[in-house]
Amino acid sequence: MDQHGFAKDAIDQVSTGLFIDGEWVDASSGATLAVENPATGEELRQVADASASDGRAALDAAVAAQPSWGATSPRDRSQLLWRLFELIQRDKEHLAAIMTSEMGKPLAEARGEVDYGAEFIRWFAEEALRIEGDYVTPPDGKTRAVIRRRPVGPCLLITPWNFPLSMATRKLGAALAAGCTSVIKPAALTPLTTLKLAELIQEAGAPNGVVNVLTTASSGKVMGPLIASGLARKLSFTGSTEVGRQLCAQASETIMRTSMELGGNAPFLVFADADLAAAVDGAMVAKMRNMGEACVAANRFHVQASVADEFADRLADRMGALRVGNGLDDGVDVGPLIDEKAVDKVAELTEDTLAGGGRLLCGGNRIGGPGHFFAPTVVADVAPDARVTTEEVFGPLAAIIPFDDEDEAIAAANATPFGLAAYFYTSDLDRSWRVGEALQAGMVGLNTGLVSNPALPFGGVKQSGLGREGGHLGIAEYQDVQYVISPR
Ligand code: NAP
Repeated sequence: MDQHGFAKDAIDQVSTGLFIDGEWVDASSGATLAVENPATGEELRQVADASASDGRAALDAAVAAQPSWGATSPRDRSQLLWRLFELIQRDKEHLAAIMTSEMGKPLAEARGEVDYGAEFIRWFAEEALRIEGDYVTPPDGKTRAVIRRRPVGPCLLITPWNFPLSMATRKLGAALAAGCTSVIKPAALTPLTTLKLAELIQEAGAPNGVVNVLTTASSGKVMGPLIASGLARKLSFTGSTEVGRQLCAQASETIMRTSMELGGNAPFLVFADADLAAAVDGAMVAKMRNMGEACVAANRFHVQASVADEFADRLADRMGALRVGNGLDDGVDVGPLIDEKAVDKVAELTEDTLAGGGRLLCGGNRIGGPGHFFAPTVVADVAPDARVTTEEVFGPLAAIIPFDDEDEAIAAANATPFGLAAYFYTSDLDRSWRVGEALQAGMVGLNTGLVSNPALPFGGVKQSGLGREGGHLGIAEYQDVQYVISPR
């Protein structure tokens, strides 16, 4: 069977109901929503379209399951996560084929995301065993206290379409390890991967109500009342800064704990003393992973003027050679963008760079067809006030802006309300420390185009978010701290 046939079978087998209290159920209204393949425009499946009352049923199930799940032993929670890790590995090809079909990324990248997503589950299987506290004697010596961490309570988890598996496992792994139950709502554009994951969570033996899944075309109407209810104690969101801002406002009504993984506008700096071949390799990863649809994607390239032309030419050679097409086809490097709005945005930002005096080195055009394709594009000599310096591209446009000295580069890199990832290339040790410490970003890649790693605390500063996911800090997002004090 070829990849298309395999993907069709995998998609036909996915449960398409709501997963509430351990049962697969239809939306109470009977409504469904269509999931499409962005490479072809074809409908893949109809999935349940939850209403507010379905949402409430899912949250009630999570609330009911919280006391017993919170009381399980760390070993039991760890074992569940280990089983889930193994099931994700077992069904790697199915998950990858589903992800490529509903989201567009080439199969090789989808397989990479399955490994990355599974690694969060493995990481938190181990973290579940390391929930520690403290014993303190305050300075006057008259009291003693035990400090402990306990599950924050039922969680609401909202994920975006660009990394359908790993954004779910990054949240669910930590919540399960900490002893929290949850209701997860995937993006309406890419619900099938989360539904497949829910099947595996069920197979791994999660008790009823511990994880519940809501798919809906009315996110605000379904999630708003759940946030307002006061029954959920934690909201973890990955998505745009605009929606994150609204959710923070809603969560403030009940002083709900929040983790916000929001938008970025990552600068990629290349100094004249850098290894240019390595910088181009890193640029390809930082720009083109996920077709540029990543919150940590390099959004703008600031390159020292003396090497800017050479860097631009080398990057254009590599970008121009990429094969664009349906991610299920062999040899495809770049898949479709998620929808036509995304293509319009890349086209607009490309036009803006050219209107400001930029030189088009490759691409620059939409690629016709039923899917949503845009050619990998490199524009050199981009003006320092171009829109890409302040707006997220989320697509395959590399805009190169020359700079003269280090101070100018740092100032340009930091001139954004965002602060998620930043990258820089240099072979000067002193500069490595200076620039690394001066960049206002939660994650800095030094001579690498890849910053994500489940063992590290992923997250941003400024308007890129609040809190950290993964690493040793990840589980703390799902825990409250309590101390008990008594006289000595
Ligand atoms: P989005 O429009 O903010 O949507 C994200 C999620 O929020 C989706 O599940 C969406 O559901 C839901 N949502 C939208 N409005 C809502 C509301 N009023 N109440 C409750 N939920 C609501 O973002 P996106 O376009 O999917 O994702 C792209 C953005 O995510 C980019 O800005 C990217 O940088 C950011 N991102 C950040 C990270 C990170 O870790 N920092 C990682 C990946 C992506 P619907 O699908 O139904 O609209």
